[in-house]
Amino acid sequence: MSNNEFRRPVSIDYAPRGSMCEWCGKPAERQLTAIGGSYHNEGGLFCGPCGDEFTRAVTNAVATARSKETTTQPH
Ligand SMILES: [Zn+2]
Repeated sequence: MSNNEFRRPVSIDYAPRGSMCEWCGKPAERQLTAIGGSYHNEGGLFCGPCGDEFTRAVTNAVATARSKETTTQPH
């Protein structure tokens, strides 16, 4: 329940009834859309575990992009 200390760069909606996970074909639980980083506007329907994987991938991509922005300095 204390899961919002870190703001996730993914918007989460309920999956339409009867939809399938894009990655494993199981019944989808949620519809995820990336709202930052190189995954911007990518997303789809995912079951629980795949949704967690997707969220982690997007979060890592955003974190990587941010650290590059701050460490890459023009000469
Ligand atoms: Zn899945």
